[in-house]
Amino acid sequence: MPAALKGVEAALRFELSPVKLNVVMMPELLPELPAFVAITRHRPLHVRFIEWMPVGGCGPRAAGDSLTKAQLMAALRELGANGLGEFAPADSAPGGWGPAHYYRFEGYKGTVGFIGSVSDHFCRECNRLRLTADGRLKNCLFSSHEIDAKSAVQARDLDGVLAVIAESLGDKTFDKNVLPGRTARGMSQVGG
Ligand code: SF4
Repeated sequence: MPAALKGVEAALRFELSPVKLNVVMMPELLPELPAFVAITRHRPLHVRFIEWMPVGGCGPRAAGDSLTKAQLMAALRELGANGLGEFAPADSAPGGWGPAHYYRFEGYKGTVGFIGSVSDHFCRECNRLRLTADGRLKNCLFSSHEIDAKSAVQARDLDGVLAVIAESLGDKTFDKNVLPGRTARGMSQVGG
C-alpha cells in the first residue's frame, strides 16, 4: 500500500492528469472508506469504486462478496452526515468521463466515482474498446467476440486498422445480458 501511494504522489507531482485510483468494492473496504475519501481532499485525485465483476471465471461467488454501488453511496452519505459535509454530484470530472458517475465532498479537490458494473449497468454509455496483449480488439469485457488487429498494425495498414476499429465498434452489443458468449479471458488479460 505505501508503494502504491508513493506512485500516486509521484504521478500528481509530475502533473499527470487525470490521476484515477480504481478500487474494487470488496466488503473489507468499508473501514478504509474515510481514508480513501481523505486522499481526495487536497489532491486532484479521482478515486473510483468499481463493483467486482464476474469476468473470465473470476468474480463474486455469492451475494455479499462485493458491495453494491448503492451500499457504498449510502456509507459515503453517512460519512457526509457525520461531519464530512455535503456529498453531491461533481460539476466537472476527469477527462473522458467514461462509465463512472462522479461525486465530490464540498470543498474537496478530488472526486469519488462509482462504476456500478453489475447492479447499475451502463452498456448504453460504454465507449470502450480494449486491445489484448496478443493484438486482438475486444468490444466488451463480458464477450468472447474479438477481432485481429495485429495483422493490420504489423502491415502498417492505417486503413486496415481503421476498418478493424469500425468493425469492432459496429459489433458492439449494448446489453450485457444478450452477449454472444462469455469470455474465458480474465480481467488482467484485457486491461479491464
Ligand atoms: S458493453 Fe460490455 S464492457 Fe461495456 S458496459 Fe456493457 S458489459 Fe461492460
